[in-house]
Amino acid sequence: MNKSFLYIEPYVYSVLKNKQILLYNTLSGDKIIETIKDKNLLLFLSKLLKNNKLRIIKFEENKNSLEIRKFIDKCKQLFMLDVHFGEKPFLIPFETKVMYDKKYLKSIDSINKISSQINQINIVLGKSTFCKNEILNSNGIRQFLFPYDCDKKKDIDAIKLINAISKIKFPLKTINIIGDYFRYSDYKIITEHFSSIFISHYAYYLDFEESFFENNTFENNNFTFWIDFPCDEININKMISFLKKKNIDFSLSFLVTSDKDVSELETLKLINANFNKNIIPFYNKHNIDFFKENVFIDDKDIFEQGVISNKQIFSNMQSNKLFFGKLYFLPDNKIYANPNFVSLGNLENDWTDILQKNLLNNPCWFKTRKMKPCANCIYQYLCPPISNYNLVIEKGNLCTLYHL
Ligand code: SF4
Repeated sequence: MNKSFLYIEPYVYSVLKNKQILLYNTLSGDKIIETIKDKNLLLFLSKLLKNNKLRIIKFEENKNSLEIRKFIDKCKQLFMLDVHFGEKPFLIPFETKVMYDKKYLKSIDSINKISSQINQINIVLGKSTFCKNEILNSNGIRQFLFPYDCDKKKDIDAIKLINAISKIKFPLKTINIIGDYFRYSDYKIITEHFSSIFISHYAYYLDFEESFFENNTFENNNFTFWIDFPCDEININKMISFLKKKNIDFSLSFLVTSDKDVSELETLKLINANFNKNIIPFYNKHNIDFFKENVFIDDKDIFEQGVISNKQIFSNMQSNKLFFGKLYFLPDNKIYANPNFVSLGNLENDWTDILQKNLLNNPCWFKTRKMKPCANCIYQYLCPPISNYNLVIEKGNLCTLYHL
């Protein structure tokens, strides 16, 4: 008698948790999500998915119940599953080696190979800002690239920074300068060193200084200005008109904490609308309801990201693409993978210690959804990675699916 095997196609991501099945076609974005009530079907699926990489079993169609056959047909229609007659077929397992794997990076003894993963550095300047919002000043940098009003006497030491960075070959794509660069005395030392790299600047809008743009040239640069509420409409318009006249590439990022801020934003009369505008929610420790309403996701949002490729899923299993490849330099000359995690060292430390020891032992780059409740959820590796919002709100899941 001919043998036959039933298998899940290698491009299909499969999860069976707490009687819930998810089959996701990473080529088309088609999906099957069901809670399995039928005992036989549940047993059958457990057997099929037991070896979660190969997902193949011997198969005799007539021996299966109607429920199982109906389920198989549904999967076949979406090209997720097939039957092979003859010898056991060779299947590519649903796994791949990703470069972002911690084990792989730990096995490398060349510091240059580890540093080759770093593509963005964030230079956070010290000194003051005209922003009067204390929570933003102390906490903004933990959520987005907002100036950090720490110890006013401290500021990043440009010479030390450049000396430290020059010791390593970083394949940098972006440099972000965050804070009051208008009044930072060593601005030119830093930007001249990075003249071949795209530099993005982030500052609070009331720190804006016209003379800064008169005295410098800005090819390969862009400028983002943070605006909180209530805001100074006259100053915003003055700034827009100046930047437009100077042909500066800029955008405005409006920080909203509530529906009231959103309404104020809607009534703003900007003299020129022809530039990038972003609306960014800011968690101020008192507005979790606003976040529930506007930031928390549900299962529909997960699939609205577009087709989720298997590469994306593998990457979500191993590392955090929002955090991976970034380093922060803070005004106290300390280095971080992210300001929400412990420091990796300071500018005077040896890069072997900073990268090989401290960075690879720091959870930041590898912060995945391994913890509960995400560990119990079928969307665990389809969901966007843990973000700074998760860390400041101290909640692993910013979704409406689990209320823990
Ligand atoms: S529980 Fe976690 S993985 Fe599941 S939808 Fe919520 S955030 Fe995403």
